[in-house]
Amino acid sequence: MKILVINCGSSSLKYQLLDMEGEKLLAKGLCERIGIDGHLTHKPQNGRPVFNEDVPMPTHTEAIAAVLDKLTSPEYGVVESMSEIGAVGHRVVHGGEKFACSVLIDDAVMDALAECIPLAPLHNPANITGINACKAVMGENVPQVGVFDTAFHQTMPGKAFMYPIPYSYYTDLKVRRYGFHGTSHRYVSKRAAEMMGKPIEELKLISCHMGNGSSICAIDGGKSVDTSMGFTPIAGLPMGTRCGDIDVSILEYLSANTGKDIKELTNILNKMSGVLGVSGVSSDFRDLDTAAAQGNERAKLALDMFHYAVAKTVGGYVAAMNGVDGIIFTAGIGENSAETRAEICKYLKYLGVEICPECNKKRGEDTFISTPDSKVKVMVIPTNEELVIARDTRDIVEAL
Ligand code: ADP
Repeated sequence: MKILVINCGSSSLKYQLLDMEGEKLLAKGLCERIGIDGHLTHKPQNGRPVFNEDVPMPTHTEAIAAVLDKLTSPEYGVVESMSEIGAVGHRVVHGGEKFACSVLIDDAVMDALAECIPLAPLHNPANITGINACKAVMGENVPQVGVFDTAFHQTMPGKAFMYPIPYSYYTDLKVRRYGFHGTSHRYVSKRAAEMMGKPIEELKLISCHMGNGSSICAIDGGKSVDTSMGFTPIAGLPMGTRCGDIDVSILEYLSANTGKDIKELTNILNKMSGVLGVSGVSSDFRDLDTAAAQGNERAKLALDMFHYAVAKTVGGYVAAMNGVDGIIFTAGIGENSAETRAEICKYLKYLGVEICPECNKKRGEDTFISTPDSKVKVMVIPTNEELVIARDTRDIVEAL
């Protein structure tokens, strides 16, 4: 079965077409500036040329139509016709408490997604738009599946997901920790168990997804038991531009002293904070490494704060699970920055973590970076959220 995986943002749409026979990537690409003018980058994996041009995209429907046009075109295509695409898998950011696993999308699911909009006002409307656009272009008969960023974390116990605020805010307004990056944490933890040669049910794992957005997840017996992002993805670690956990009173204090309202300040905490805010240099860790190496103290401070926050969170999750067998690094920073991994692991020596400097230099493959004697195994596992979405979609559609 060939499956189209869609990750829809408010003005962008990422896609991959996978052949599930051999889990082979056939093509991938990106629509940008949807609703503004429109640009399509389409990369077939069969040796045909890359398409990289402006294409008018007044709405997501034209974007999907342009993608399907390229996927089936004689010059840039990878399939003969749209009928070869058996199903579509959608990344959906927020499933609230309604979705603890991936689901076939029907009218009831669409209603439930709409109900989750207040929880993810920037993301869920785009996901819904993407689903409707696929239905419009591909027809109602092509099954569509929703795979939620939050679903994996629905196994967290109350002591981990509740906030210590009046209980009615949970019951009436659904304020609780949801956690994100669930698809990534699920994928890498499963791979880690395979690499360690043990059933995941017997393992205590800590997964560190470190990219533009970063989150850590405690996975006990294959189930998420705690995670660092919260009600929204601003919580937890300091990130590229997000502040992570800070004292909530700072908002009122800043509002009183800057004249900015909560909306403006929240925007600053989301987009101008984190390592960018502290360093004043960049949100990109490569730029921070360069600046720190040139003696920029604030860049060094921002990096130190990040390493320290990751190490403290990992320590907390060791306590939460009463032990740890394996620690995983993934996503842009986790997969690529040997320095970041080494700095974090310096804090973890008390656990018996020993890093092999040579192994830590490897890139682009699943690998152990701990020494054979290390009490806790440390792994780098490139994440693959699209593959998880495609696998879930296949499993659901094959069971129909
Ligand atoms: P997203 O959260 O948007 O999916 P990614 O997982 O792609 O992000 O991570 C992007 C980040 O990865 C970049 O902002 C950059 O900080 C970091 N990164 C990528 N390559 C390196 C590298 N070689 N060294 C340090 N950081 C890197």
